[in-house]
Amino acid sequence: MIRQGTTSLIDTCVWMPTSLEEAWDLKKKYGENAAFIAGGTLMQTHWAKGLNCPSHLISLDHMNEMKGWGEELVNGQTYTRLGAGITLDFCRQNKNLFHPLLVEAAKNIAAPAVRNRGTIGGNIANGFGDMIPALLAMDAFLTLYDGNSTHSLPLSDYIKTNNQSLIISVLVPEDQTKRFFYKKLCHREAFTPSVITVAGSFNLNEKRKLTAVRLALSGGSTHPQRLYESEQLLEGSTLTNNHLQKVYQVINEEFIPSTDPFSTATYKRLVASNWVVSEIARLAT
Ligand SMILES: Cc1cc2nc3c(=O)[nH]c(=O)nc-3n(C[C@H](O)[C@H](O)[C@H](O)COP(=O)(O)OP(=O)(O)OC[C@H]3O[C@@H](n4cnc5c(N)ncnc54)[C@H](O)[C@@H]3O)c2cc1C
Repeated sequence: MIRQGTTSLIDTCVWMPTSLEEAWDLKKKYGENAAFIAGGTLMQTHWAKGLNCPSHLISLDHMNEMKGWGEELVNGQTYTRLGAGITLDFCRQNKNLFHPLLVEAAKNIAAPAVRNRGTIGGNIANGFGDMIPALLAMDAFLTLYDGNSTHSLPLSDYIKTNNQSLIISVLVPEDQTKRFFYKKLCHREAFTPSVITVAGSFNLNEKRKLTAVRLALSGGSTHPQRLYESEQLLEGSTLTNNHLQKVYQVINEEFIPSTDPFSTATYKRLVASNWVVSEIARLAT
């Protein structure tokens, strides 16, 4: 462990642990006065807004378990493993390594300088990142460390709790057959938190029925959500105008966005319902 010293401005210690156990013990030792930091791109926005910087920052930069990528076989299914420390830009630039839906999501996050530093782990852990809907649409799993053990958890379960574990990696099923979409609405091209981010995926079988439907949404101040009821309504269906109208209504009822100073929840529901229905109709024809 290297103690990097203190910053002259805010008297913060930056710790550089080299193992998960060390990182966890530091957090336990300093508690509320400490935070894990990966790229720091989100955390710096908090300090810029006047929030106090923790007096101990525990850098995840030297955590080998969070680096790299590869293939993993879990219960007979092949997954792509992405270390939590992979940057958004690395993901964006490597179409040959990663699923196109992930690449598409990474492309739509922030500007190059932020993508160069910002990590996938940080994007997920902050709870509102734009990678989350894409990963939910792909049935991604997380590998987590909770101070006792390393274990896997579906991302769809992770987002339901205030999980404080360290994210070690993300496991994404290697399924290139699914049709997918990803759309993000912002107030302007450069960074402002997304108003709404929508991702979805499904298979279309030989009878032109939709199967394995996944719909996920989030946005700025809106907590990520899977639309289970709407997915169920689409599962096994063939698309007709009447059915799409019903799906539109159910999304409108099921999606619970927040209202923020610039966009109402009603507006967000309208955009989400329109986007999902039109993307599914486009991809299923
Ligand atoms: C100009 C600008 C534009 C941005 N645009 C977007 C955007 O369009 N979409 C978007 O989603 N985000 C955006 N962001 C926010 C941010 O850059 C990204 O979400 C980024 O992926 C965060 O990753 P990071 O490594 O920098 O996280 P950090 O800032 O280092 O950490 C964020 C949080 O995650 C925790 N954390 C980090 N890694 C782990 C881990 N492995 N395990 C457990 N906890 C961890 C930290 O403790 C902290 O609470 C933007 C930020 C800026 C400054």
